[in-house]
Order: sequence, then C-alpha cells, then structure tokens
Amino acid sequence: MNFELTKEQLMIRDMVREFAEKEIAPYARNLDETSSFRVESFKKMGELGLLGIPFPEEYGGSGGDTISYAIAVEEIGKACGGTGLSYAAAISLGASPIYYFGTEEQKQEWLVPMAQGKALGSFGLTEPNAGSDAGGTRTKAVLEGDEYVINGEKCWITNAGYARQVIVTAVTGEREDGKKIITSIIVPTETPGVKINCNYDKMGVRASNTCEIVLENVRVPKENVLGDEKRGFSQFLSTLDGGRISIAALSVGIAQAAYEKALQYAKEREQFGTSISKFQAIQFKLADMAMEIELARNLVYKAAWLKDNKKPFGKEAAMAKLFASEMGFRVCNQAIQIHGGYGYMKEYDVERHLRDIKLMEIGEGTSEIQRLVISRLIGC
Ligand SMILES: Cc1cc2nc3c(=O)[nH]c(=O)nc-3n(C[C@H](O)[C@H](O)[C@H](O)COP(=O)(O)OP(=O)(O)OC[C@H]3O[C@@H](n4cnc5c(N)ncnc54)[C@H](O)[C@@H]3O)c2cc1C
Repeated sequence: MNFELTKEQLMIRDMVREFAEKEIAPYARNLDETSSFRVESFKKMGELGLLGIPFPEEYGGSGGDTISYAIAVEEIGKACGGTGLSYAAAISLGASPIYYFGTEEQKQEWLVPMAQGKALGSFGLTEPNAGSDAGGTRTKAVLEGDEYVINGEKCWITNAGYARQVIVTAVTGEREDGKKIITSIIVPTETPGVKINCNYDKMGVRASNTCEIVLENVRVPKENVLGDEKRGFSQFLSTLDGGRISIAALSVGIAQAAYEKALQYAKEREQFGTSISKFQAIQFKLADMAMEIELARNLVYKAAWLKDNKKPFGKEAAMAKLFASEMGFRVCNQAIQIHGGYGYMKEYDVERHLRDIKLMEIGEGTSEIQRLVISRLIGC
C-alpha cells in the first residue's frame, strides 16, 4: 500500500475542503439548532460531482476510488457531522447497493440520477424490533402475480424524507432449515401505501434527515427486487461493510474538527498568567488527540485501499469503524475538557461535535457488533 495520496486524491481533498468550509460549515450550528436538512448543500454537492465519487462515469459518477470518497466524507463531516452522515448514507447506503447488485435497467433508472446528484436514496434495514439482529426483520413481501405486496415498518432511516426510493429488506419466504429468506426491494417513495415521518428529536447529527417508514399494502413490480432475491441478507451485510469505511471517515472528520478547535483555544486561553497550551497536561491531551486521529485515518485509508484493490476488507472496515468512532468520542470529550466551562456552551461547537460523534458508535452496527464481526474474522 502506497501511503502517499495520489495527485487526484489530493485535488479532491482540497476541492471538498474549500467547498465544505464555504458552503457547509457556516450553516452547521443553525442546522443543529433547528434540526433541519439543507437541500441546497446537496444540490451543490451534486453539481460538483461529489455524490458520484465512487461510481464509474457510465453511471453518472466521477470514477473516483474509495479513498477519495473517504476523504470527501471526512471533509464534509468536519464541517458538519449531520450533513456528513447524510452524504455518507446517500452514497454508501442509498446508491452503492444498486451499483453492486442492481441490473443494468435498475442502474440506469435509480443509480444514475443519484450519482449525478439529482436524487437521493435510502436504505431501510432497521425495524423497531430488528436492529443489531437485522435478520429478525418482520417486514413481509408477498408475490401476487407480477407484484410484491409489502407490509411492515422501518425506523431511523437516513435521508428517507428526501429520497426518491428506499431499498427495503423484507421476508419473502423460508429456507428448508427454517431460516427466513430476506429480499432487498427498491420501493419508490411515491408509491401508494408508503408513509414517511421525519419527526425524531435526535441528540446529534441533527442536520441529517432521519425517518420512520410505514409500508401498508405497498405494491411494486417484481422487477424491483435488487439482486438475487434469496440473498438479500448477504447483500446488506456486504453493503454495511462498505458503509463502515464511510462512518469511520466521518468519525475522523468530526474528531479533526474538535481537535483543531481545542488546539486553537488552548493557545488563546490564559490562566495563571500563561497560555494553557503551555501546561503539559493540556499538551499531552492534544498530542494524544493528534496521534489517535492519525491512526484512525490510516485505518480508514487501509480499509478503503483494500476495497479498491478487490481484496477482503470486512475485518479492516470493522476495525476502522470501531476504532475511529470510539477514538472520536474520546477526542471530542477531551476537546470539551480543554475548553473548560466554555466547552459546555453551545457557542464553541465542541459540545455539538460530542453529540454528533456518539452516533458513530451506534449506526451501521454498534461497537459491540463490530467487536463481534472482528472476533469472527480473526477466527474466534
Ligand atoms: C441517526 C440514526 C440513523 C440511522 N440510519 C439508518 C439507516 O439509514 N438505515 C438503517 O437501516 N438503519 C439506520 N439506523 C439504525 C442503526 O443502524 C441501529 O440503531 C443500529 O444498528 C443498532 O440497532 P438498535 O438501535 O436496534 O440497537 P439494539 O440492537 O437493540 O442494541 C441495543 C444494545 O445491545 C447491544 N447488542 C445487541 N446485540 C448484541 C450482541 N449480540 N452482543 C452484544 N451486544 C449486543 C448493542 O450493541 C447495543 O448496545 C440509524 C440509527 C440512527 C440513530
């Protein structure tokens, strides 16, 4: 693995950084306060080609690699954690499953508009009674003639309120061993019977749109099945492997934002007649923060590089997600500590970073589930 970023990757980093500083960061505090999703940011990201980074040009993408995509997630997440989450979910959960498992017709119909930034998509796996145990899905899809009739409920689905379609997982039968057959189905959000409510009052990532979806006798053509109808379960496991790289990158971005603010504040704040950055206790905190962020970033790049080079990357993606999210929590917590009482106030932003980063230890598989995945992959 080459540890130097390529010219293209550096160009993407500089371009996204400049864009995020101008077009995303100035809105972050207000979006958090009002719990609003900023459509305008996504329109602009679409115009810049950011929503199609990891997809080939023939599908409306920019033909970039996973490292470039991870860099973009980090930069957007550094500017606003909630916008970063919606950006990562749009690509890793909304668009990627169609790219990896869809037919040519499905790619033309659904992937191309997403990669071009003209539409958003969602991924509806989680249900009120099926979270970590996603195999416990209760949503059912029954084949009637040429249509699937879907009934069920999904919760906490990112971007669903702005999505053109949601990929939902549903039970379509039973195997000989008694296990459920789970199928992924593309459901246009305009279909009669689809009800989407986005009224959750979240702790953090409040600039991302999060919704409950109720499906009542929703009819979609059987051509909307995504990939092999008997392999929906393994498809979503593979989708989550890729998604974990982006959650790890987002964690790095949020941690970097908190660290930079803490470093700046430490240099400015004076106590006992000197800048607090002169105290070794503060210096060591900042040194640990810088080191841990760098370690996490390297894990992200390694997992992304493995994916780009068609090598197994599930273990590294889980490690990157686990380490980066827990590291991010430690870093944001220390950033508040370095700010003292001011860090507890909203105007310094570091308390927002702590609220935002907490989701990274929960979404796309909790820390406990990452440890489970890693244990299995190291042969426990
Ligand atoms: C803001 C937000 C956005 C989200 N976006 C999406 C989305 O776009 N699409 C989607 O499908 N889902 C989404 N989710 C759902 C998310 O993926 C789930 O919350 C997550 O997978 C955990 O499921 P759960 O919340 O039901 O927790 P549970 O599974 O109920 O877990 C509760 C606790 O038990 C632990 N636990 C569970 N099983 C085990 C075990 N076997 N061993 C040890 N510990 C265990 C967990 O680690 C956790 O600490 C989102 C959630 C949030 C909050």
